[in-house]
Amino acid sequence: MNLNERPLHELLALIEQGEIHARDVIRDLYRAIAEKEPQIRAYISLTPQERLLEECERLSEKPLRGLPIAVKDNIVTRDLKTTCASRFLENFQPIFDATVIKRLKDAGATILGKTNLDEFAMGSSTENSAFFATRNPHDPERVPGGSSGGSAAAVAAHEAICALGSDTGGSIRQPASFCGIVGLKPTYGLVSRYGLVAFASSLDQIGPMTKDVRDCAILLNYIAGHDPNDSTSVARPSEDYTQELDQEIKGFRVGVPKEYISDLSGQAQACLESWVKTFRELGAEIVELSLPHTEYAIPTYYLISSSEASANLARFDGVRYTKRASDSSVETMFSESRDQGFGPEVKRRIMIGTYALSAGYYEAWYGKAQRVRALIRQDFENAFQSVDIIISPTSPTPAFQLGERLKDPLAMYLSDIFTVPASLAGTPAISIPGGTVEGLPFGIQLIADRFQERKLLRVAHAFERALPRYAP
Ligand code: GLN
Repeated sequence: MNLNERPLHELLALIEQGEIHARDVIRDLYRAIAEKEPQIRAYISLTPQERLLEECERLSEKPLRGLPIAVKDNIVTRDLKTTCASRFLENFQPIFDATVIKRLKDAGATILGKTNLDEFAMGSSTENSAFFATRNPHDPERVPGGSSGGSAAAVAAHEAICALGSDTGGSIRQPASFCGIVGLKPTYGLVSRYGLVAFASSLDQIGPMTKDVRDCAILLNYIAGHDPNDSTSVARPSEDYTQELDQEIKGFRVGVPKEYISDLSGQAQACLESWVKTFRELGAEIVELSLPHTEYAIPTYYLISSSEASANLARFDGVRYTKRASDSSVETMFSESRDQGFGPEVKRRIMIGTYALSAGYYEAWYGKAQRVRALIRQDFENAFQSVDIIISPTSPTPAFQLGERLKDPLAMYLSDIFTVPASLAGTPAISIPGGTVEGLPFGIQLIADRFQERKLLRVAHAFERALPRYAP
């Protein structure tokens, strides 16, 4: 097996034993990139191989040994442009590293490249990138999911060992499901958002996208923790997320929400049944439960996230950052820069958000959405009184065809039905490979109560070992 196909924890062990060196891994990665990237197109920019080979020498004594990580291109990096897959930021060179990047670099990681996404992370297929679409390594006619589609495709195609993504309503979990990898959205507030270009600030979280659950726990150890530069990051004692991974889950209560499973296709239903069976074999108890406000989650999410986006994206005005249209007058310069700089989906969100926040409509739309959000959060708080973990499919379907949902934004939005509730509630959720539907990867989502990442990863790890491995 080539080194680029191995998970991070195995590579670290091999380096420690003196069997290999980080440069061997880097060479294998670039070989895979040269071979696969013309078709997959996971990356917007790449660090030159020579530079990584040099950097890894200096880092060989640090815990991550100079091994490279791929990063979604809405997380700012001092050494590589950060475009958010938008014309607006096509040539934007940040002057600092996001907190997560700084932490990973301090631990001895290097940055392999910046991965493609839906423009400003708005979308579910990576087709909203202003530059190009990324393809699913399991079937190049299909999307990799989104918005962290580049990170998911890079890990699945072994063009990266592991990656960072960001998740606002499912953007780590859904592409992880579509590409057959592991993706974790941490509890809101656990990981610093400083240096993540904001989409919807009350929902955005950065998280790991990896080949297995152990790698997810390892990366979380490095990126989690309080940051004075992000006022919503929570000060809590640090934890070792790998600590409980190997413990059994006998006696755990696993909840299946009835609202999530009523409309599943035959094959998805069969997957769900195999998950229930696997959990029972592990000694867990299966409990049917209800999250009664689930049907309101999609409209609530799109109102809140678009409102926050319309405020956050006001800073892209042609004056600061990179894109500026002709400046015959200040007003035309603003409006033409925005017209030329933003793609259609971003404009749609800004219009929805501006409308929902406008005088006279604020209470009816944004205010109401906030109140429904509180009810959705309450649903989860009630459920976690009686269960340890909630399970569901990550997405109702496996990866869809390129172009299939582009003409119908509503169909695209509805596919987020299982991922947005945990985002609104702020709880952690992970997607791991759970079988196949139509011959394609189909992920299971596990949700835990807020700040229960250790328990979540323990259950995910037990399940990962017990379910017959999905072989692409
Ligand atoms: N698909 C969702 C959206 O378009 C989620 C995006 C995300 O999590 N960044 O808003």
